[in-house]
Amino acid sequence: LFAGSADFYAAAQTLDRLPPMEGIEIAFAGRSNVGKSSLINALTGRNTLARVSHTPGRTQQLNFFKVADRMSLVDMPGYGYAAVEKAKVEAWTQLIHSYLKGRANLARVFVLIDSRHGLKSIDTDILDGLDKAAVSYQVVLTKGDSLKKAQIEARLAGIREALSKRPAAYPEIILTSSRDDLGVADLRAAVARLLAE
Ligand code: GDP
Repeated sequence: LFAGSADFYAAAQTLDRLPPMEGIEIAFAGRSNVGKSSLINALTGRNTLARVSHTPGRTQQLNFFKVADRMSLVDMPGYGYAAVEKAKVEAWTQLIHSYLKGRANLARVFVLIDSRHGLKSIDTDILDGLDKAAVSYQVVLTKGDSLKKAQIEARLAGIREALSKRPAAYPEIILTSSRDDLGVADLRAAVARLLAE
């Protein structure tokens, strides 16, 4: 798994462009600038796979990567970037919702949350949508290097409490830092477990 074998194979800006369902899919979602590209690159060991962009909100499509024979990784467009025009926001919110609702082979959505910021209301909206669609999801904290240990503990406790009331949430939170290679192995193990299920 991820042994340098992750390859881009499809992009979809509209529902009719989704690739056929094949094996299981795991998706990565999060606010723009949460560190999603960096984490996907760390996870796959491919530094150019998901472009680390300093222009938030640029990727407005679902990108599909094959990471194993029976598994694809789906890089979802970052949400919550205010400068993106309204029509575009609606088009891609629609795409995200339809994808999340209708994808029978979607095993889990990893929702990335910036350690420094915690759950913002837009994240809560996304979690509400996932609960409603009964799509299993797991929170991954990013940029864990930028907080002190006590702050991390407080952040984890707060999110754990919020998740305890959410039906589709996987209780365990994965703490990561792509900068320090923290928790990347844990994330990889979580993905591997999904493949084994
Ligand atoms: P994306 O927009 O969610 O794909 O986020 P990027 O991966 O492009 O990262 C956004 C910004 O956060 C960049 O300036 C990165 O250098 C920074 N960043 C990404 N990962 C980390 C991390 O683990 N620690 C810290 N401190 N910064 C990070």
